[in-house]
Amino acid sequence: MSFSAAIVDLDGTVYRGGELLPGAARGVAALREAGLDVLFFSNNPTKDGATYAADLAELGIEISPDRVYSAGAATTRYLGEHHADDALLVIGSEGLKAQLREAGLALTTDPEAAEALVVSWTDGFDYNDLQAALDTGEVPFYGTDPDRVVPTADGRMPGSGAIVDAVAATIGHEPDAIFGKPSAVARRLVLDRLEASPEECLVVGDRLDTDLLLGDRVGMTTVLVLSGVTDRAAIGDGPVDPDHVLAGLGEVETVLEGAGRE
Ligand SMILES: [Mg+2]
Repeated sequence: MSFSAAIVDLDGTVYRGGELLPGAARGVAALREAGLDVLFFSNNPTKDGATYAADLAELGIEISPDRVYSAGAATTRYLGEHHADDALLVIGSEGLKAQLREAGLALTTDPEAAEALVVSWTDGFDYNDLQAALDTGEVPFYGTDPDRVVPTADGRMPGSGAIVDAVAATIGHEPDAIFGKPSAVARRLVLDRLEASPEECLVVGDRLDTDLLLGDRVGMTTVLVLSGVTDRAAIGDGPVDPDHVLAGLGEVETVLEGAGRE
């Protein structure tokens, strides 16, 4: 098997807390030198592709904005396909709201006018948001991504999943869909862009339940890096048995070399 594309996670895989991880730039270069089409996918829903591309350029990794995807892009795509003319009540960051407005979607702050409820990370989340969610009544309820905690430079912080869970507990039912990795919406987004079959794709990330599960479900080769939230002891307990386990992205060449010998 030789590979033609790689879907690479960002936080905990390429960088952590805004700092490039050791060897990450070398790993990206190795993928490109081996002829792989590299696409980044983050479950952080607050930024668009252009912002990610600018952040990566600062760290010395050049990528076109249309090759960086996020839970924000997956959410925007789904809502554009299914709620193009609906008023959306959004509990989320200004960055997410900007992406939705940019795509021509309509946002409302009036729960009674809302035709769908979209829940995501925001550090402004409070009691009034729970009241607003309750007041939307029986409208479709979506989460941008499932991550309950996300790694920071010196620890962890609550993510979208924590807020989605709080809203779900308040309104009394689970979301109708959660976008971002490992959702089918996220997978379709990247496979459409890559024009590669899943068998030709590497999926690289630090989480078994999101990054690797996205690809494992459709036969991609999974590569776990131990530079983020997962340690070696947790591997047996996860939903995916990774095809390769690396200390970091800098070692990805070993996976490519192995592929060449088969
Ligand atoms: Mg990660």
